[in-house]
Amino acid sequence: MSDEIRITKKERDALIILGNHIDEEFPVRLVDISDEMSLKPPTILNLLKRLEDKGYVEREKGMTVLTKSGISRYREIVENHRILETLMVKNGMDLDRACLISENIDFLIDHESIDNIFEKIGKPSKCPHGRKIEQFHE
Ligand SMILES: [Zn+2]
Ligand SMILES: [Zn+2]
Repeated sequence: MSDEIRITKKERDALIILGNHIDEEFPVRLVDISDEMSLKPPTILNLLKRLEDKGYVEREKGMTVLTKSGISRYREIVENHRILETLMVKNGMDLDRACLISENIDFLIDHESIDNIFEKIGKPSKCPHGRKIEQFHE
């Protein structure tokens, strides 16, 4: 398994939402995360607190932003996700299903395994959605 800090599926989802909004002018609000995850704000606050303890987020004037290590973990999960769904689709799985299953493993898989899969599937430059795979960790 990964030698990285362990996160839960819900922590992963919150991290992904924060990362997806990173290029926007204003940091994502608690209520936005709450809406996207269909969870109550106190639950989200608790999730963010745990991500803060793990060094992935920090509070800035009441807003929550990703730290440097949060950003790199986010990128890694996104990359893992794209590689995993590409693998499944290449083996005949429906894309929506592959995407959903990948969400449950993209934050758990270790570098070595994902690198092996990436090599085996011929180092694709895009996932089946057409999103880039850059393979930045090496
Ligand atoms: Zn996907
Ligand atoms: Zn995709």
